[in-house]
Amino acid sequence: MLDIQKIRADFPILSQTVNGKPLVYFDNGATSQKPQVVIDAEIKYYNEINANIHRGVHTLSQLATDAYEVARGKVKDHINAKFAHEVLFTSGTTHGINLVANGFASILKPGDEVVVSSLEHHSNIVPWQMLCEKTGAVLKVIPINDNGELIIAEFDKLLSDKTKIVTVNHISNALGIINPIKYMIDKAHSVGAAVLIDGAQAVPHLKPDVQELDCDFYAFSGHKMCGPTGTGILYGKEEWLNKLPPYQGGGEMIKEVTFEKTTYADLPHKFEAGTPNIAGGIVLGTAIDYLNSVGFENIQAYEHELLEHATKRLSEIEGIRIYGTGENKASVVSFNIDGIHPYDVGSIIDKLGIAVRTGHHCAQPIMNFFCIPGTIRASFSFYNTKEEIDAMVDAVKKAQTMLS
Ligand SMILES: *Cc1c(COP(=O)(O)O)cnc(C)c1O
Repeated sequence: MLDIQKIRADFPILSQTVNGKPLVYFDNGATSQKPQVVIDAEIKYYNEINANIHRGVHTLSQLATDAYEVARGKVKDHINAKFAHEVLFTSGTTHGINLVANGFASILKPGDEVVVSSLEHHSNIVPWQMLCEKTGAVLKVIPINDNGELIIAEFDKLLSDKTKIVTVNHISNALGIINPIKYMIDKAHSVGAAVLIDGAQAVPHLKPDVQELDCDFYAFSGHKMCGPTGTGILYGKEEWLNKLPPYQGGGEMIKEVTFEKTTYADLPHKFEAGTPNIAGGIVLGTAIDYLNSVGFENIQAYEHELLEHATKRLSEIEGIRIYGTGENKASVVSFNIDGIHPYDVGSIIDKLGIAVRTGHHCAQPIMNFFCIPGTIRASFSFYNTKEEIDAMVDAVKKAQTMLS
């Protein structure tokens, strides 16, 4: 089992006070905190090997290039990709999704269909809407039920030989619902559609196996998994990455440039134009090592305890409604209190040192479905504790008394 106090000591930010109270950080769904090893690795890079990669023959450039490629290899092993060149460094999930959506502009014809779900983050909705506007393809949306779960029978009905790509999140950021993606991937493949999985909320909690899932693309961000902001990964199957055109033109992504014709570099460089976040990519590797040293089985078991504790304790509050009550959930509780605006609760509990997210969580269609302006979202990480959850419940009760 996890020694939580020892783990908490790895995260310097957690020991501070906010508004005179011990910080309770429950906004892990927006971004995770960083352990000291990650912070140190970022400093070490700039102190010792900073240089541009893939260009110079000089020693530092070689060292930086090697470290960057070692990190790519770590990601490949972590997600069990077949080849390291199927692992593209990006600036985050948003970048990865846009890269794929942009590439599909050269594939889709008017009348083709793109299937998204009602549970998506805006970054897995808007790029596809833009793609449909550009190509004349049609956006189809998988509905949800009152528990916040995708209605899979409706998904099955949406699929046809017109479906060219299905794009769905592994875990919903707004509600914490875990989607049955293995089933959806196989089903989409049976009509010949490609599948992109938005794994932004999954990678902090589990280790995806892209070969076992058999997804065509899997996008995630570094900053939600203890890594630096401005880092991310797009996994793509080799055959798809070869088929898609480059996203951005520039240095590093070419084989040969003349004014008559430019030829593109091999994978992964074809999709990595310009100078990337070199330090960030290397340090993402450190973050993955750190998470694996804690162990995803331990993380999942402990976070499940936190989820159950929070659900039980919050249910004591009169007039509370929890959104996303499906069986299969990550450690996220999204809720509202009768007659009180989520923003007001968030502001009061912030004064008590408690950081939660309030609002629509970049998922307005979900809020529209439940006819609410937003929710209060507490998203837990393996470095949180039951005592912190108790402190939040007390604070929410206090806010309720003050506001009613
Ligand atoms: C955070 C998040 C994104 C966007 O990630 P960025 O790091 O902002 O690019 C996309 N999808 C989901 C489900 C998310 O939680």
